[in-house]
Amino acid sequence: MSRSAHPAGPRHADVLPEGHYTAPADDLNALDPKVWAHTVGRDADGVVTVGGIAVTQLAEEYGTPAYILDEADFRDRARAWRTAFGTDADVFYAGKAFLSRAVVRWLDEEGLNLDVCSGGELATALAAGMPAERIAFHGNNKSPEEIERAVRAGVGRIVLDSFQEIVRVAHTAESLGKRQRVQIRVTVGVEAHTHEFIATAHEDQKFGIPLADGQAAEAVRRALQLDGLDVIGIHSHIGSQIFDMSGFEVAAHRVVGLLKDVRDEHGVELAEIDLGGGLGIAYTSDDDPREPHEIAKALNEIVTRECEGARLRTPRISVEPGRAIVGPTAFTLYEVGTVKPLEGLRTYVSVDGGMSDNIRTALYDAEYSVALASRTSDAEPMLVRVVGKHCESGDIVVKDAFLPGDLAPGDLIAVPATGAYCRSMASNYNHAMRPPVVAVRDGAARVIVRRETEEDLLRLDVG
Ligand SMILES: *Cc1c(COP(=O)(O)O)cnc(C)c1O
Repeated sequence: MSRSAHPAGPRHADVLPEGHYTAPADDLNALDPKVWAHTVGRDADGVVTVGGIAVTQLAEEYGTPAYILDEADFRDRARAWRTAFGTDADVFYAGKAFLSRAVVRWLDEEGLNLDVCSGGELATALAAGMPAERIAFHGNNKSPEEIERAVRAGVGRIVLDSFQEIVRVAHTAESLGKRQRVQIRVTVGVEAHTHEFIATAHEDQKFGIPLADGQAAEAVRRALQLDGLDVIGIHSHIGSQIFDMSGFEVAAHRVVGLLKDVRDEHGVELAEIDLGGGLGIAYTSDDDPREPHEIAKALNEIVTRECEGARLRTPRISVEPGRAIVGPTAFTLYEVGTVKPLEGLRTYVSVDGGMSDNIRTALYDAEYSVALASRTSDAEPMLVRVVGKHCESGDIVVKDAFLPGDLAPGDLIAVPATGAYCRSMASNYNHAMRPPVVAVRDGAARVIVRRETEEDLLRLDVG
C-alpha cells in the first residue's frame, strides 16, 4: 500500500499518520465502477442513485443504516457465472454470503444452484421454492436433525466433512430407504488469500479430511462401501478473496491425484469435482478481480490438463462463488452523526451503525472504500476513519479513507461492496437492531429483509 502525498487542506497536519491507505482519488465525487454496483451513479443534483432511485429518497423511506442491493446487478453477476461455466458445469451460490427468500428466487430464475451450511439456510432455501436437487448441504458438524431434514428433502448433495459424518449420513439415508448423493470434502494443503497462497503437505484446520497420510483415500474407501451413499465426487475449498489462480492449480493437481488413486484402487472414476468458492472482489480501487469467464476458462483448463495427465475422464466441475456474486451488488447507507478531527492524526466520522452491521473490518482488518452520497463536494480531501456507535474502540467500518473536508452531521455516506458477509454476520451487539436489505430495480425499491424493531428484540427476551 502506498503512503499518500500530503493532501492540502486545513484539517491536516504536515505528516499523515501511518496507515493502509492510498492517495485520495483525483475526484472524490467519482464512483469507481469497480467497487460500486452496476446501476449506481449520481443524478443532476449530485445525489448517488441506484436503479434510478436517489439515496436521499431511500434514506427517507427506509431509514439508515440500510443495505441497498441492486437487483439487476445481482442477476447480471449470477447470469455471468452461469454463462461462463456453461452446461457442463454447475454454479452453486454460497448462501452464507447473504441469503433471503428473494435471493433464492433470483438464483432459481437465473439457473444457479445453492449451497447451504445450516438448517436455517436450508429452511430458507426450501421456503423460497428452490428445488431440493439443486441444493448442496455443507458444514463440519451437521446435526442429526439437519442431516435427516436434508436427506428427507432430497438435497442434490451432502458434502461429507468427517469420518463420523460418513456413517451418520449413510445410516440416515438407509433408514429412510434412500441413497444420498455425497461429495467428500478434502483438504489439500493449500490456503489461498488475495495475492498469495501457501501450499504445504498438511492442513491444520477444522474443515475437510486431509489428503495427507491417506486419510481422504480412506474416507472414499469407507463411503464407497456404504449402501446409503452414492459417492459422486470430491470437494475442495481453499480460501477467500482470491485473485491469483495458482492456488487452484495446486489444489486441482492434488484432487485429481486422489481421483486417480480411487480409480486405480476401486476401478471407479468419480464423476464430479467441486473447486469451492473464494473468488475475490474489489473492495477498493486497488483490487483487480477477474471476470467469471476468465475464471471459468482457467479452471476448465487446469482440470482438463490434470486429468489428461492422469488419463482420467474430465469430471464435471462445480464452483461455489458467494462473495463474487453478491458482494459488489450492495452498499451500506449510513447517516453521519458526528465529525471529530484529531489534530495530526485523522478525522473520526461516526455513523449510525457499525460493527453490528459490518463486522468484517474488526474481524479481518478488511478494507473498504466510502463516498459522500447525499451530495457532491469540492472541499479538500480529509483522511477519515469511519466508525460505528458501539461501545468498542475496534468498532471501525472503514479504517482509512478520504472524504471531503466539509463533511457534516446529517450527510449520507455509502460504503460499497457490503453485499457479502455483512447482513449475514450482523449482530444485535448493544441491542442494535439489524438494518433492512432494500432491493432496488428499475426505479422501484422494496424491502426484502425488514429492519429489526425493539419488539423483535423484546420478543426473544422472555423475562
Ligand atoms: C465460504 C464458502 C464458499 C464461498 O466463499 P466466497 O468467498 O463467498 O466465494 C464456497 N464454498 C465453501 C465450501 C465455503 O465454505
